[in-house]
Amino acid sequence: MTATIIDGKAFAAKVRAEVAGHVARLKEERGLVPGLAVVLVGEDPASQVYVKSKGKQTVEVGMASFEHKLDRETSEADLLALIDRLNADPTVHGILVQLPLPSHLNSELVINRIDPAKDVDGFHISNVGLLGTGQKSMVPCTPLGCLMMLRDHHGKLAGMEAVVVGRSNIVGKPMAQLLLGDSCTVTIAHSRTKDLGEVCRRADILVAAVGRPEMIPGDWVKPGATVIDVGINRIERDGKQVLVGDVDYAGAAKVAGAITPVPGGVGPMTIACLLANTLTACCRANGLPEPEGLTA
Ligand code: NDP
Repeated sequence: MTATIIDGKAFAAKVRAEVAGHVARLKEERGLVPGLAVVLVGEDPASQVYVKSKGKQTVEVGMASFEHKLDRETSEADLLALIDRLNADPTVHGILVQLPLPSHLNSELVINRIDPAKDVDGFHISNVGLLGTGQKSMVPCTPLGCLMMLRDHHGKLAGMEAVVVGRSNIVGKPMAQLLLGDSCTVTIAHSRTKDLGEVCRRADILVAAVGRPEMIPGDWVKPGATVIDVGINRIERDGKQVLVGDVDYAGAAKVAGAITPVPGGVGPMTIACLLANTLTACCRANGLPEPEGLTA
């Protein structure tokens, strides 16, 4: 069997085009412009690249982008004061604080200061609780992107056996909640799971969110399964720096029914879902119906 490649790059472009269509209609019919504020503290090179890319794509879909670049030494009080201002600003519908923050800043405190209705990363404790109890929330972007790709590929997911490897608050846990919300039978695996290969082989849907290069070999994949590889790992191969996922792509693609590549799978969906969440937040803030197919 050779797996169908789930093209996250193309899917993300489709999501962005849908978002852009909604944004254009909001402007024309309501005079509304969804706005996303991104806060970056310090000069972490990877974070700078992400923030630049987010700002560019925000503008491309017709939204307003507000970038706040703060000095590495910024005090917690100053950062919280900025978040308070953004919370109160009616032109800002989404607020994202780029993580990781410098070590003198308490990430939990900072994230929980964001108005949950503007928390487009879905990390605020209220949104975590709402998602966990199956209520309307802001959903973390990476798992939302994975869910969209799975729904697009399978239609209904009800009754499928899903295994999520990784239990982080950013990916693994919300991914499992979303799959449960779509009535999958969900197992969450982690570093203490016994006989991980056997657990993975049960999965109709296997989501890998570990952060270990190619740790899931092809023979852990059930024939015909759908494999969603969230991992982004930079390694050296044949003297070159390359990006690989948490799954041995070549091995898994021989067995799986469908698979996301790295790069070009889950990665591009994350920013597309950030834009979708900002649109959703803007619609909710203005009492308008939410865009269909762009939320959980
Ligand atoms: P974390 O490091 O926060 O979590 C990793 C999880 O993997 C933990 O739950 C850990 O278990 C588990 N784990 C570690 N080693 C093993 C093992 N040997 N067997 C089974 N489970 C193991 O990572 P994140 O969730 O933040 O990210 C995971 C990956 O996804 C990374 O490669 C990251 O770069 C990528 N990522 C990609 C995004 C995208 O846009 N595509 C966005 C976010 C992340 P335990 O809890 O027991 O320690």
